[in-house]
Amino acid sequence: MSSKNESADVIVIGSGIGGLTAAALLQERGLSTLVFEKNRFPGGSCSSFQREGYRFDAGASVFYGFAEGERSGTLNLHTKIFKKLGISVATIPDPVQIHYHLPQGFALPVYYNLQTFLAALSARFPREEEGIRKFYQELVDVYDILSAMPAGSLEDPAHLFSVGTSQPLSTMALAMKTFRSMGKTARKYMHDEELLRFIDIEAYSWAVQDALSTPLVNAGICLADRHFGGINYPVGGSGAIPEALCQGIRKFGGEVRFKSEVSEILVENGVASGVKLADGSEHYAKAVISNATIWDTFNRLLQEPRYRVEEERFLRAPSWFQLFLGVDGSVIPEGFHVHHVLVDEWESYNKPGGTIYFSAPSILDPSLAPPGKHVVHAFVTSEVDEWQHFTRGSEAYKKAKEEFAAAIISRIESILPGLSRAIELQVLATPLTHERYLNRFKGSYGPLLKAGQHILQKPQNRTPVKNLYMAGDSTFPGQGVIAVTYSGVSCASYIARKFGKPLDYLS
Ligand SMILES: Cc1cc2nc3c(=O)[nH]c(=O)nc-3n(C[C@H](O)[C@H](O)[C@H](O)COP(=O)(O)OP(=O)(O)OC[C@H]3O[C@@H](n4cnc5c(N)ncnc54)[C@H](O)[C@@H]3O)c2cc1C
Repeated sequence: MSSKNESADVIVIGSGIGGLTAAALLQERGLSTLVFEKNRFPGGSCSSFQREGYRFDAGASVFYGFAEGERSGTLNLHTKIFKKLGISVATIPDPVQIHYHLPQGFALPVYYNLQTFLAALSARFPREEEGIRKFYQELVDVYDILSAMPAGSLEDPAHLFSVGTSQPLSTMALAMKTFRSMGKTARKYMHDEELLRFIDIEAYSWAVQDALSTPLVNAGICLADRHFGGINYPVGGSGAIPEALCQGIRKFGGEVRFKSEVSEILVENGVASGVKLADGSEHYAKAVISNATIWDTFNRLLQEPRYRVEEERFLRAPSWFQLFLGVDGSVIPEGFHVHHVLVDEWESYNKPGGTIYFSAPSILDPSLAPPGKHVVHAFVTSEVDEWQHFTRGSEAYKKAKEEFAAAIISRIESILPGLSRAIELQVLATPLTHERYLNRFKGSYGPLLKAGQHILQKPQNRTPVKNLYMAGDSTFPGQGVIAVTYSGVSCASYIARKFGKPLDYLS
């Protein structure tokens, strides 16, 4: 433990959802926390920003984890965390998770009601109906096991013992499914090539990987909970979630300091003792949590070469090209769904730009746009290498962005005719923007598992540096707001027990 004056028990680097969740739970448990965030606002990839009366989601728009009452298993972490913090976040239920628009005119909304969705999918593949039902039932089985288990740290023997002894059958069943992939399980039941492509896009739409590379356990959460807890949109936009977590931290006496970039994690004899900010000031603590990516934490914030993490240790997910559009409301037809995924041809769905993600959350929450208008957020995968030869602010960069955006808009016009003429505001972001705003290595969506690696090979919260922990999408279980919330819960649980103040399970 450091002998220097401590700024807090626990310092958190970054106010992404993983970092804020860990800070809020620790602070509520009586451990003092101090969060340093480089930006002027919290939330990272789950923040909102405002332009000319429109409020945009910077990244995430599809939210799990907000179900109430009977529909709410242990996976409904936002509900349980905000209940614990005594803070309310209003949400609006979304009747459809995603509306897929796929090659050969294959269009399918994923309805909240599982039977309606399965009937619609089976209508396209009548001979595969039995296999379809069996496969999605496997996902529900995984979901049922997970949603009955309390969230905790897989590195905490006390938690593992508690779950193993109170739910031995579920634990065994889960252990048997842990090493299985979603794609292999799908192939057990279904054979039609187009149907298996659909299963791939079901994985790709949130995991940015095909089904064979996606663990069954992750699929059991994302593709089943949408039919139980459902998809719920926070009123006011994605930024409402980090704002509420900051409110929780402050309510119990903690602090979130903005415009405070951490330049170095201080390590003394292999033990993390605090951080150094870009302004040169040093702050000490008993423990440090990094909410930065694994590459930024080990290759930029830690100075010692022995901690380096090669880019190749994981599959680095690409970054994004994003369009934030303010549009005339008349372009969105009555009954249009909020979230869409567009694939023009199967050969390129997983290549840069191959799949278009598209959300218009003002359909659910009109407060996001001026009267009669809508916000539209569209994005495709893109790599930093495609953009880094441009000088920021140059005419050439602006022109390249506009041309790239125009091509995407024209593809979206297949489902939203007249979109290009309805645009009243256009804000464009490339992987360079992503890298700069969020301090994410190459603007990446984060590390993915390589084919053959299993879910338990994702980094957990502990690190090789004593008293340095990680939370966020570089850690188990991975990308997505609900997943990083889990990582924040498990990180806080581990640290709280270590400091003799174990957290109660969230209820
Ligand atoms: C375009 C896009 C769409 C997405 N859509 C969805 C969706 O619909 N649903 C969903 O669930 N998920 C979605 N996601 C994924 C989800 O948003 C992320 O997985 C999640 O928000 C990442 O959280 P995190 O805790 O890892 O931190 P991040 O969001 O990466 O935040 C980290 C924070 O740390 C700060 N920081 C970093 N380094 C430092 C430093 N040295 N000093 C101080 N501060 C620092 C950054 O500024 C940032 O605020 C999407 C992501 C993107 C990019």
